[in-house]
Amino acid sequence: MLESIDNNRTEILAELEKEYYAVEMPKIRMAISELIKEIGDEFKENRIEFLENEIKELKTKLTAENIRYGFTDGLGKKIVRENIYNLEKEIKRKTMHIMAIKNESQKITQEMIARAREYPIADIVGYKGKGNILCIAHKEKHPSMTIKNNYAYCFSCHWHGDAIACYMLIHNVSFVEAVKALQ
Ligand SMILES: [Zn+2]
Repeated sequence: MLESIDNNRTEILAELEKEYYAVEMPKIRMAISELIKEIGDEFKENRIEFLENEIKELKTKLTAENIRYGFTDGLGKKIVRENIYNLEKEIKRKTMHIMAIKNESQKITQEMIARAREYPIADIVGYKGKGNILCIAHKEKHPSMTIKNNYAYCFSCHWHGDAIACYMLIHNVSFVEAVKALQ
């Protein structure tokens, strides 16, 4: 008798838990994703700092493992090598994550990219009139870079690019910075 009550109770609890995961969890996830959309931007710096600290810890571990590798033989070496590989992978993953957050916060759109590509290259390189110009990608005495249909191409070094690439090269800036500058 007692046993059957206990079984019953277990079933009820299991049912409640199932319902919780099926019904409540999606609601919680939804609410949190709304929250992130609303105020997430304010905490990006904190998130980056958190990840940077994690990377720092991983790098300390990596240094230790690298030292250990030198003192280990046989099967141990294989294990340490595996650890090193995993640590490097984790560091890379977190670094990419930071980059993604930074890029996202710079907010560029497809429309902005399209607009930047249409920016006249002639204006970017200060090109006037006809004929070739001195290449922007290599040093030369005789102009061998031509601009056509808003593309630049060098007949000597074969460098080529659109307005964004030209701007990035001349001003030594990132893709996002170039797109923002060419609006
Ligand atoms: Zn060139």
